[in-house]
Amino acid sequence: MTVVMFPNDKILNGQLNGQGGPLDVERLSHSLESSPPPPGRQVFANRDLRFDQINMIGFDMDYTLLSYLRVPMESLAHRLTVDRLIFKRGYPELLREKAYDPEFVIRGLVVDKQLGNIFKIDRFNHVGRCYHGRVGLEKEERRKIYRGEHIRLSNPRYYLVDTLFALPEMCLYADIVEMFDNDWKAGKRAQPNYESIFKDVRECIDEVHRDESLKDIIRANPEHYCPRDPELAHTLHKMRSSGKKLFVLTNSAWNYTEPMMRFLLDGVMPQYPSWRNYFDIVVVSSKKPDWFTAQNPFVDLNIAEDARVEGKPLEKPVDKLQRGHVYCGGNLKDFEKMALYQGEKVLYVGDHIYGDILKTKKSGLWRTALIVSELEEEINLSIRFKRELHELQALEERRRLLDQELLHNKSVLVSLERVIDNLDPVKQKTERERLIQYAKDLRRDRDEMKRVLQSALDRTLELDSLVENTFNRYWGLVFKEGHETSRFGEQVGDYACVYTSRVSNLLAYSPVQYFRAPRALMPHER
Ligand code: IMP
Ligand code: MG
Repeated sequence: MTVVMFPNDKILNGQLNGQGGPLDVERLSHSLESSPPPPGRQVFANRDLRFDQINMIGFDMDYTLLSYLRVPMESLAHRLTVDRLIFKRGYPELLREKAYDPEFVIRGLVVDKQLGNIFKIDRFNHVGRCYHGRVGLEKEERRKIYRGEHIRLSNPRYYLVDTLFALPEMCLYADIVEMFDNDWKAGKRAQPNYESIFKDVRECIDEVHRDESLKDIIRANPEHYCPRDPELAHTLHKMRSSGKKLFVLTNSAWNYTEPMMRFLLDGVMPQYPSWRNYFDIVVVSSKKPDWFTAQNPFVDLNIAEDARVEGKPLEKPVDKLQRGHVYCGGNLKDFEKMALYQGEKVLYVGDHIYGDILKTKKSGLWRTALIVSELEEEINLSIRFKRELHELQALEERRRLLDQELLHNKSVLVSLERVIDNLDPVKQKTERERLIQYAKDLRRDRDEMKRVLQSALDRTLELDSLVENTFNRYWGLVFKEGHETSRFGEQVGDYACVYTSRVSNLLAYSPVQYFRAPRALMPHER
């Protein structure tokens, strides 16, 4: 991870204006005045990204431009899904007594539908922490089930939680597994079919999204579910002022996109009375990730510049994307043909690692920025535990050295014992006794080293669990699993050009920022 620095050299060299036009003095003085943002709000680069070479920036809406307050939003989705499971699928009323526990779920978890387990995996797809229902599985149990195998996530047996929308269903699934297991053990029901429980939960939450029941409630009371980021409008304005074109590309339909974007942006800046003034193109119901590969046509929704309601969609095919128009559907290939900029000139900002980022990377040349809201808390936590994390690093180094010493001690002892065995106890008595004493000293040293090693290990475990449990007592850090990077962390590194905790973090950076990736180091170079 690099902390991105401000390109003062460029400012001083008069290269600030990426568009090649006259120098914007207001922007120049802003950039000179800016101080680096706090760590939790910085932008981190996996790959070099020159902001001055980006001419067009696209934004996903949900969890990107529009954030959700975790507890109200997830509890609502949880409650509506519980209702549906009870009324439509005959699940027990008792389910209502299971309160939603937002701590039990994080992004990057995997569901084993066959066994009813939920686990976290590291970058090698090894199973780490694992729960059956709400009961944690011990290491030995985990080993017995997954045998240290690499999990193949393409196997339909597994379901990966890679969007924040999917968090409530994890908690619900675990609670139902536990409830049904208890009933089964008490002889009140047959052995649960974990796969069909999963299917029911997934289908019900899917319905809750599709039939608008969730959206009706949020739309009616957006301030209860969504925070307004006071810096968002200014961030978009700064981008526009530097000559960049902006667009929205969301899977949400117009009847949700419009009120939510209005709630976020209308009237925040006098220059932009409507949220639509910030964006050159708006694409709704896009069907990402398929949008990046399929051939669905763009449909002009025929919505006037100042209108809020849907018009009658135009029937004629769209042959150019016009400012002020709202489109439905579409696809990447046609977008690239009709929009002003293509390929590496476009930056897409999204929160969904598969639907927004991975597919973008695999299907085209757009640059990508991933919004990882969890980052802010995770970084703030590592600042809070700075001393402990330094100690952990020192302990790791001590353990590595002790391991080496022990190995050396062992090989010297083995050789020594061989020499002692070959000495004549009578004729070479003195020499033999000297070596026996030496071997004794070596064994004492070895025992002492083992003791120190064990205490370093105990302290490591103690610190690890202190840090991890403070973040999340069930799953630890989102980006780590044990001493390894989690699979989620690995994917962030593999697919996103840059990543940050919110869109408005970009406000602190110059429009000609050079986001530099750190030099990749192999273990032998570190
Ligand atoms: P985006 O992030 O703006 O592209 O759009 C996310 C959209 O997907 C929102 O309208 C969500 O309601 C919707 N969504 C999220 N999860 C589900 C699901 O499980 N089934 C159907 N729609 C979903
Ligand atoms: Mg999204």
